[in-house]
Parts: sequence; C-alpha cells; structure tokens
Amino acid sequence: MREMIEIRTHSALHVLKGATRKVLGAKWTASTYVNGPHGRLTVQFERKPTEEEINRIFVEAQNKINEGLPFITEKLSREEAEKKYGDEIYDLFPVPPEVKELYIVIIPEWNINACNKQHVSNTKEIGEIKLDHWRYRNAKKLLEISFNVI
Ligand SMILES: [Zn+2]
Repeated sequence: MREMIEIRTHSALHVLKGATRKVLGAKWTASTYVNGPHGRLTVQFERKPTEEEINRIFVEAQNKINEGLPFITEKLSREEAEKKYGDEIYDLFPVPPEVKELYIVIIPEWNINACNKQHVSNTKEIGEIKLDHWRYRNAKKLLEISFNVI
C-alpha cells in the first residue's frame, strides 16, 4: 500500500507548508520530496530558524491535522487562478507555460497551492506528523524540513 501512504505524506506537505508560513512567514517552496512515509519540504528563508520555531511548526501542523479540515480542489484556467489567488498558488519551481489549467488545492485558511497530485479528503487522514530532522543551508538560504507520517 505504498500509494496510499504517499498520498498521506504528500498531503502532509501542504499542512506543513501552511505551518511554516504561519510560524516563519516563509512563502516560497523550493522543492518537495516524498518516499513512502518520509517527506521533505524545502522553503526559501533568510535565516537559520531556532529549534523552538521548528517545534512550533510541528505543533501547528499536528493541530491542523487534528482539526479535520477538508482538502478542496478547484480546477481553474491559469488566468482565472492567478486573478483569484495571485502568486500564492505558485512555488519557486515554475509551472510550465504550456499548462493552461490548474488544480488549486486549498486547505481553508491554511494553505493554497497549484498541485495536480492526489490528496486525502480530510487532514485527519494524514494521522501523525513527526519531525525527522532539519537543516538550514545558509549559502542557498534554504530550510529543509524532513518528517515522517505515522
Ligand atoms: Zn499536493
């Protein structure tokens, strides 16, 4: 059942990104990685965060998971999506210009992102999210947060 676990891990990335945005104000995702229950979120950030901030990110993320919020998907033309949501839907890696329709994935009042992957329908289905390790790459101004979904 590798596929289902990866849907949960990928969905956890959206929740974690919302928490990272809330705690640190980090807006731009540089990359994401999923392998079974293991995931990694890399965001652009201007300084090394404190251990306490990282812990807060995980408390916030777990709280959101426990709240049982829906994942809502809207299919919109690129033009409509940009008009409605601005650049909030994008990551640092660009959506190819030939893509004219976007799936906008929304966790209400928490996270919004253009994403064509599969998600759980409710954050509760993610289960538990646990910090694995994190590191800050000063030269690139990138914060990598690795986690496991249990
Ligand atoms: Zn997604």
